[in-house]
Amino acid sequence: MDKKGELYLVGFGPGHFNHLTFRAREVIGRADVVVGYRTYIDLVADLLEGKEIVATGMTEEIDRARVAVDRAQKGERVAIVSSGDVGIYGMAGLIFEILSEIGWKPGGDFSVEVIPGITALSAVASLVGAPLTHDFAAVSLSDLLTPWAVIEKRLHAAGEGDFVIALYNPQSKRRDWQLKRAQEILLQYKVPDTPVAVVKSAYREGERIVLTTLDRMAEAEVGMLTTILIGNASTFRYLDFLVTPRGYSGKYDLESGEILHKGIDRPGRSLNRPPDFKA
Ligand code: SAH
Repeated sequence: MDKKGELYLVGFGPGHFNHLTFRAREVIGRADVVVGYRTYIDLVADLLEGKEIVATGMTEEIDRARVAVDRAQKGERVAIVSSGDVGIYGMAGLIFEILSEIGWKPGGDFSVEVIPGITALSAVASLVGAPLTHDFAAVSLSDLLTPWAVIEKRLHAAGEGDFVIALYNPQSKRRDWQLKRAQEILLQYKVPDTPVAVVKSAYREGERIVLTTLDRMAEAEVGMLTTILIGNASTFRYLDFLVTPRGYSGKYDLESGEILHKGIDRPGRSLNRPPDFKA
């Protein structure tokens, strides 16, 4: 084989060109073949002129991954595209499972590069100010590949740990009860008026931001392209923003900069609540 194949795993961010990284643009530009879920391909359509496109539906992920690897093995330059970050609930895992099966190694018959992208939780957070400034956990409510019992366990752990929580895949037409169940679980650990942002289609057509509270979040319109951010015990709403303090205001006077509680680590208001705090 004269030409060495190249396989690029590309996350292109939330969906708007402005949030596509320079490297993502570069490697999509370089590719002979672009492989992806149809909707994702449409989002980068402007970059695809003159390229071969392999667009398949959502359920054909394994086929798509195999095609991408096969074509790179044949010496082509292949970009497999995915929204957000390709390694976060994306195709990178499946591709690397295949690579491990076929015994691929760096320096082998094709190169592999993972290009990071802006994941939904950062995109969504940026639209509502500063909700993720302290420890957070991401949980996908999709039980298509993960048993629901495992998801529940993680929700309990995230609730118990008072993490800010980002819910990916919160709901679809077929998965319509999981969000309510997640809400019930989190209400065991968080107060009902915990601030919540429900963001649909961040940086895409049809973008919609709803600020609500944990006890009311299931009333918002939630679909396949929604990410939900749920505050921790310190998160507060300010105008149309959610703010999770890092603890500066507990430690310093924000106007003078003087230390108020020398040596005491006080992450925001959360420690004002008793340690055994339950809603
Ligand atoms: N790899 C992607 C996640 C894929 S899972 C990433 O890193 O963002 C699909 C889920 O991502 C959706 O159900 C939704 O929760 C979230 N998502 C993807 N794009 C989004 C967008 N533009 N706005 C809000 N949520 C989005």
